Amino acid sequence: MSNEQNQVKKLHMLTPGDPVWILDQDLIWRDVIIMSIQKHHCIVKSQDGMYREVPVENVFLQPEGDLTSVNNLTRLTPLHQASVLSCLEQRYIAGHYYTRAGNSLLAVNPFCDCQYLYNTDKVESYHQQSEVEPHIYQVGEEAYRCLVGQLGKVNQSIVVSGESGAGKTVSARHLVQYITLVSSPGTISCEDFKGEEIERRILQSNLILEAFGNSVTQRNDNSSRFGKYIHLQFSRHGQLQGANILTYLLEKTRVVHQGPRECNFHIFYQLLQGIDDWPVPSAISKELKNANFKITPPATGPVHENRHLGQTLKAMTEIGLPVDFQQNIFQVLSAILFLGNIEFCPLEDEICKLLEDEVTEMAMRVTADLLSVETSDLEQMFLYRSIQPGGHARHSVFVKPVPQSEAQSRRDCLATLLYTRLFDWLVSFINTQIQASSYDYTIGLLDIYGFESFHINSLEQLCINYANEKLQQYFVRHFLKDLQREYEEECVEWSHINYTDNQPCLDLLEGQASVFGLLNEEVYLNRKSDSERLGERILSLVATHKCLSKGRQNISEPSFTVRHYAGDVTYSVEGLVTKNKDNIPVELVTMLQNSTNPFVSGLFKDYQTEENSGMTKKKKTVLAKFKSSLDYLLASLNTSDVHYIRCIKPNPLKQAAVFDRQYVMRQLVANGITEAVEISIHSFPVRLLYSDFLKRYGLVICHHQDPKLAEKHVGECGQDQAMLFDPLDMLYKKQLDMSSDPHRTPTPHKRRR
Ligand code: ATP
Ligand code: MG
Repeated sequence: MSNEQNQVKKLHMLTPGDPVWILDQDLIWRDVIIMSIQKHHCIVKSQDGMYREVPVENVFLQPEGDLTSVNNLTRLTPLHQASVLSCLEQRYIAGHYYTRAGNSLLAVNPFCDCQYLYNTDKVESYHQQSEVEPHIYQVGEEAYRCLVGQLGKVNQSIVVSGESGAGKTVSARHLVQYITLVSSPGTISCEDFKGEEIERRILQSNLILEAFGNSVTQRNDNSSRFGKYIHLQFSRHGQLQGANILTYLLEKTRVVHQGPRECNFHIFYQLLQGIDDWPVPSAISKELKNANFKITPPATGPVHENRHLGQTLKAMTEIGLPVDFQQNIFQVLSAILFLGNIEFCPLEDEICKLLEDEVTEMAMRVTADLLSVETSDLEQMFLYRSIQPGGHARHSVFVKPVPQSEAQSRRDCLATLLYTRLFDWLVSFINTQIQASSYDYTIGLLDIYGFESFHINSLEQLCINYANEKLQQYFVRHFLKDLQREYEEECVEWSHINYTDNQPCLDLLEGQASVFGLLNEEVYLNRKSDSERLGERILSLVATHKCLSKGRQNISEPSFTVRHYAGDVTYSVEGLVTKNKDNIPVELVTMLQNSTNPFVSGLFKDYQTEENSGMTKKKKTVLAKFKSSLDYLLASLNTSDVHYIRCIKPNPLKQAAVFDRQYVMRQLVANGITEAVEISIHSFPVRLLYSDFLKRYGLVICHHQDPKLAEKHVGECGQDQAMLFDPLDMLYKKQLDMSSDPHRTPTPHKRRR
């Protein structure tokens, strides 16, 4: 329907005295009363008694009745951004944290203890389907039912999205708990079930990953610094057999650098707070107790429940991690802590040495000891770079002293490398302990970071936002497909629905001539880093890509802006190539591979550096690796039924019962919810029960058409069967058509749901 038609329709619906919303900068929407209606605008009166003239496109009709009872946004009439926001607000304040939006569940974070929502009685009632109020368990039940249903079983996926602190991890935890509970032997009989053991292991593995992968950030006290895709594996009878975990992009820089009022990963604090409990030789514990560590800024705020070592150790033991491995893990973690205390000072220009103070001396000694390498090797690795000439001299190696800044980055590189290898090792160990040897179907649960936009953005945000673009495209395409299938089933005539196709943005990021292409080329051709030149090359794509523009004026360094579906994001070019290359000096890896501790050397057994990967096989860039892991993710979504949980953070202060309208509105946009609502608007915004329709508009039908029609349809349709058509459109047409064709009848169709 054209915009103009929409405006005319809207004017017909307005009556002086009606309460409506108008678009307002601060409040998003302001409550006003219509005083008079003109051709293209209305005169409205706001609560403060002020009159103003508002264009009709900024006037939004308010829904009638109690919004708290509207538990599915598709039943909201009229449906527009203002009514969606108000509905969510009113429901939130009334304690209804979950609301359906078609095939998605919106979950607004309660930020309060609501155990009453997640007990076994609730599990039981959702499993019996005796409760209809939207709930996270409802989605778990739907996914599980689709999986065990008799007809056409298909894998299921649940995508949990939302910004940091919105509640993704808590939601995913409730889902795993629910699904493991309802698929356990007490619920469904089975002989070959591995018992509760596997269920416990899966839940425990979550705790371990949270200890190692989560930390305190400004936005969330338990922020996941990695993406997680867990596949719960089932037999064809629906019994849980095991699980497999895939992780994405651990934020490794946090090991050595934390932003203001942010912390390192929880596990370091657990280790330091529970020195007496952890399984490591007492010789080291004394040093640990006495030292201050530069990479663990003091935790601000309350100690998070996940920061207790006892819990992590118990989880490690329960998943079957032997104590000697636990010791090794804590040894490596301690080495990382001491590494962070090593400092350098300049000796001459371009040459540096270890700082001669007690802290550095002790840190060097303890680190070498914990990693089982020679102190002299460690020192050599920090202070000298090895250069391997190409051609005939390939086997001869030169060493060159490095300046202080490079020694520092080699130290940080060693710390982050150790941590990421340890994290990856843990994930694969967990997988060996929870993976089923055989299974038939899976429910995949994706807990992935939401769209990010800071003042200055880098490769991490580029990856995260690219992932969100991909997921959004997947969502919109499938949403549209479902919608259009529904119309076909209902025999409703529809013309093509317009929506923001984000393919142009994906083309810009990953297509032929694209940002990823240029960044990868820089790495593969080993170009000397030059942000200025690279910035220009990226901006030369402007000619072919409309989603790209120059960076913001207030950023001095070379930058570019990408128009993402969720908003514009400016990326700084500085450091993009280095991060994409992620080059680890070969001598650093060799040193660790030569460690006399088999656990440490084992972490680097198959490690591929650029130098040891050979001439033909190029080491993959960070972007290339991330792209392939996303391709795998999407392929897996493609072969499954997908359910969506959109988590929403009601306010930035993490407070209960506070609903910040502007803050929420921004997330509705970033989460793609408004996009989905827009699509609904361009399709049929109003869905009424047939009986309600007759109550409201029956008079028009009776007067101008066959009066028997209404009765006949009431007889055919039950109260609970909704109608799918647009009465406003019909009314509008009626006014135009009435005199010319009094017998023209809009034929409503039954909805099948
Ligand atoms: P990040 O992207 O930073 O990992 P997240 O979306 O995973 O964030 P969570 O860690 O799940 O966010 O939630 C943040 C906090 O919000 C929790 O620690 C908890 O205090 C609160 N919270 C989330 N969901 C609920 C819930 N269902 N009931 C009560 N509190 C909740
Ligand atoms: Mg999380």
